[in-house]
Amino acid sequence: MLQRSIWVFSLAIVTSATDIIYYNCTCQGPYCSDKTCIGRTCFVTEQIVSDSRDIRTDRGCFNNSIYEQCSSNLDMLKVLCCFSEFCNENVTMFQTVEKPQEISLLLVTVLPIVLFVIFLMLFAFLFWKIKQSRRKKSLPRLIDFGHADIVNASIVGDSTLGDLLDCTTGSGSGLPFLVQRTVARQVTLVECVGKGRYGEVWRGLWQGENVAVKIFSSRDEQSWFRETEIYNTVLLRHENILGFIASDMTSRNSSTQLWLITHYHDNGSLYDYLQRTTVDPEGCLQLALSIICGLVHLHVEIFGTQGKPAIAHRDLKSRNILVKSNKQCCIADLGLAVVHTQNEDYLDIGNNPRVGTKRYMAPEVLDETIRTDSFESYKQTDVWAYGLVLWEICRRTIINGMVEDYRPPFYDMVPHDPSFEDMKKVVCVDQQRPNVPNTWSSDKILSSLMRIMRESWYQSPSARLTALRIKKTLNNLKNSLEQRKQDC
Ligand code: ADP
Ligand code: MG
Repeated sequence: MLQRSIWVFSLAIVTSATDIIYYNCTCQGPYCSDKTCIGRTCFVTEQIVSDSRDIRTDRGCFNNSIYEQCSSNLDMLKVLCCFSEFCNENVTMFQTVEKPQEISLLLVTVLPIVLFVIFLMLFAFLFWKIKQSRRKKSLPRLIDFGHADIVNASIVGDSTLGDLLDCTTGSGSGLPFLVQRTVARQVTLVECVGKGRYGEVWRGLWQGENVAVKIFSSRDEQSWFRETEIYNTVLLRHENILGFIASDMTSRNSSTQLWLITHYHDNGSLYDYLQRTTVDPEGCLQLALSIICGLVHLHVEIFGTQGKPAIAHRDLKSRNILVKSNKQCCIADLGLAVVHTQNEDYLDIGNNPRVGTKRYMAPEVLDETIRTDSFESYKQTDVWAYGLVLWEICRRTIINGMVEDYRPPFYDMVPHDPSFEDMKKVVCVDQQRPNVPNTWSSDKILSSLMRIMRESWYQSPSARLTALRIKKTLNNLKNSLEQRKQDC
């Protein structure tokens, strides 16, 4: 339109040089007495009114040849002249002339925002796409997992615990995690069989089979973590280590429940067993030998693919040993265990604020001289505690028709629930040891066990027997007894 008006403007100059022609023009404005006027030039003025940016349009006629007026285009006022009948009727300027400016203004202000939004959307789309493709890549695993779940569920559905545990693969002694969870959630709790320092133990039923469910109190969650970790990373299947079935963490009533499911042993702990039962010397040897076999299995590092790191228990006591139906024992409660690998000389002490049971603490633990950076130290404290357990069993062994009542170690020297200081006074300061009756020396087995006890209780940790040495001695003893029986 601007171009057209310039064209009309130049044409008007040419025309005016020849004839004077009058045109009918549209008249619109305060000075118009009619809707039309006659003039030599039709004009349109458009004025932007103050800040409101309203456009006031006037139309009319110029009767003198003041074409300069036609060229007086200001920013806020535009004038357009034309030279034909009613040529000013439908002319607008700001709208047409300004539009490109408005567009450019729009482009300058809005376009960056639009571009930015488009960029953001593109970015979001790309991000979504990448995520999608990653999900697709991981989908086969998810499907596998789902499939495993179905397979596992069906395995679980048809199997006995024995079948399940025989199929155990992987580096740990545990079932695959999904099977562990499936099993755990199918267990029905039947009766509470024991309350420990930090939780309860229940007899549970899984597919008609008894299982033991240890429910950890929340303040002992580190023991659960530790035990779960060890059972799942270390191949610990051994007849003298409590058989692990599953570990599960569930959220119930907004609190976390930590379960450890193991084999159930009807005889309960060695502590329970010795309360109600006495044994003969052979039975005593069998209990003693089975415990030391379990302890040796823990203490030794086995190399190779089916190997295991060395483990020290740190809370060995009669309550943490269970008696199986075949009168062999198995060691339980690995919540405080420390793990050692020789190659990397790596000692993993864990992260458990719990300490061992005071009554069973070795002198170096009580006087705090233990070398906590040396794995050997922890094995030596286990041997100390083993000596005390041996003493508990021997007291319940019938020799020449005589037997003692069950008593815990140091029963006659410290109060019922001894403090750290009580134990320290007896074990470190006074260097007392449990009393060993003379009657024991009249029996070949018990006299041998007496010697082992004494050599497990040396004040100096390095002077004590090792678990392996004790196992060999007891095995020799057993073999010689069997030999003698065969000779007779
Ligand atoms: P503590 O803290 O004294 O070591 P635990 O919580 O380990 O006690 O166990 C408490 C009691 O639960 C044991 O003394 C034992 O009587 C019983 N118990 C633990 N585990 C089993 C099991 N696997 N089978 C049968 N009884 C068990
Ligand atoms: Mg325990």
